[in-house]
Amino acid sequence: MLETVDVGTQDLDFYERSAGAEAVAQLRELAAPLEGARILHVNATPYGGGVAEILRSEIPLLRDLGILADWKLITGDQTFFSVTKAIHNGLQGAARELTPPEQETYLTHSARNAQVLEEEYDLVVVHDPQPLALLWLHGKGASRWVWRCHIDTSEPNPQVWDFLRPYLEGYDTTVFTLGSFAPPDVPVERVEIIPPAIDPESPKNFELDARLASRLLRWIGVEVERPLVTQVSRFDPWKDPLGVIAAYRLVKSEVPGLQLALAGSMALDDPEGWEIYRQIQESAKNDPQIHLFTNLTGVGNVEVNAFQRLSDVVIQKSIREGFGLVVSETLWKETPVVAGRAGGIPLQVQGGAGGFLVDSVEECAEKTLRLLRNPEEGETLGARGRELVRSRFLLTRLIADELRLYGALLGAQQPRTTVAKVGLAGEERDPVCGMRIDPRQAPEYEYRGHPYHFCSESCREQFRATPEYFLRATSYRS
Ligand code: UDP
Repeated sequence: MLETVDVGTQDLDFYERSAGAEAVAQLRELAAPLEGARILHVNATPYGGGVAEILRSEIPLLRDLGILADWKLITGDQTFFSVTKAIHNGLQGAARELTPPEQETYLTHSARNAQVLEEEYDLVVVHDPQPLALLWLHGKGASRWVWRCHIDTSEPNPQVWDFLRPYLEGYDTTVFTLGSFAPPDVPVERVEIIPPAIDPESPKNFELDARLASRLLRWIGVEVERPLVTQVSRFDPWKDPLGVIAAYRLVKSEVPGLQLALAGSMALDDPEGWEIYRQIQESAKNDPQIHLFTNLTGVGNVEVNAFQRLSDVVIQKSIREGFGLVVSETLWKETPVVAGRAGGIPLQVQGGAGGFLVDSVEECAEKTLRLLRNPEEGETLGARGRELVRSRFLLTRLIADELRLYGALLGAQQPRTTVAKVGLAGEERDPVCGMRIDPRQAPEYEYRGHPYHFCSESCREQFRATPEYFLRATSYRS
């Protein structure tokens, strides 16, 4: 058997507080025809990174909705996970190719995992490239299969993509975070766009009293009375932690008491993490005001909650990004962000909400300094950011999108009623961000005789600039 991840229980009714009663009621309607459906989610790590974060919250809610949902892991040794990290990097465009022995390692481990996938499911959702070859090696059986890709695969390394692509054949659907992430020649008929979301009721995001948050940070050595900027991320070169330190140094020359916290989680499937950790340690070693934390040294969900709440500015200086859950997590606490213009981050920081998008160390420093000097501006951006997250990036919206997809794949008769609020609008979607929108009220742009609708002017403008880039997802091709 594949290893099962133990999760807690959750009551959907709690979400009425954060997402509203309408969103909760709609989830129940969408789930009713799927009651008793056996749905498996498979990934490579139970902690560290956004996928584990989402599944830990989503599985209990699916169960509360009457679905027989399981979360299982593929397993492998360090060599396997070094190869899968190279594949991850290659899909994000890194130049490094896979050697024949690496390809062999990937397939041997995948075959072993496929052999121990024994139970029957109606639907199997495979997350990211690590378990991608399971379908090919296991056989489809009577299940429907979905490949849910969380990373930016818009310009993959051709050699890595050519190696992986054949293993996608047979999937019923692929799901990407953004329209532009789908590679041009994905060999699957149905391509869906569903942006991820945060869980407002998890320990990472639930309300946390400011005094308690201060005590938590003091306990680990942060002086909460002094200015604090933070980045919370896996230790990964694409998250540019060394760029964050460089930006912090520029700001610090103007704000001498400034502290920087870098909180990074190690993931089971990310052996690169320790190497990056050492590089950060080396770069930070002469500055006692740089605090370096990991999930292995006491910074867990509640501490991350405290950091995102009490920091003056949260930086997310990604160079490549999938979605960047940390941005929505931070905005939910009304803290402003300065973030790299990468992947799904511009969906979360847009139209005067959330903070600033940056493209360089200097810009990152400049915007961070601006927010430190103008806290009222930061408050306004943070408050607007929270509303953007509430309307688009809460777990209830994500699960609604997924239930619609599961219903379509399993032939369930679901209601087609629309609720424009809380991100649960009708069936038409914004081709840039994947949000369901009400076409009667949404900004429109006609391209090649077809009207496309958008959640915002910002998405429409992005589409106008490069329409073909966003029309890679076949569901949008007219
Ligand atoms: N995270 C954490 N502790 C850390 C660093 C990260 O719990 O020290 C969490 C973070 O709060 C977020 C997830 O890991 O929920 C990272 O997701 P994101 O989408 O930002 O990036 P990914 O790691 O998936 O590329």
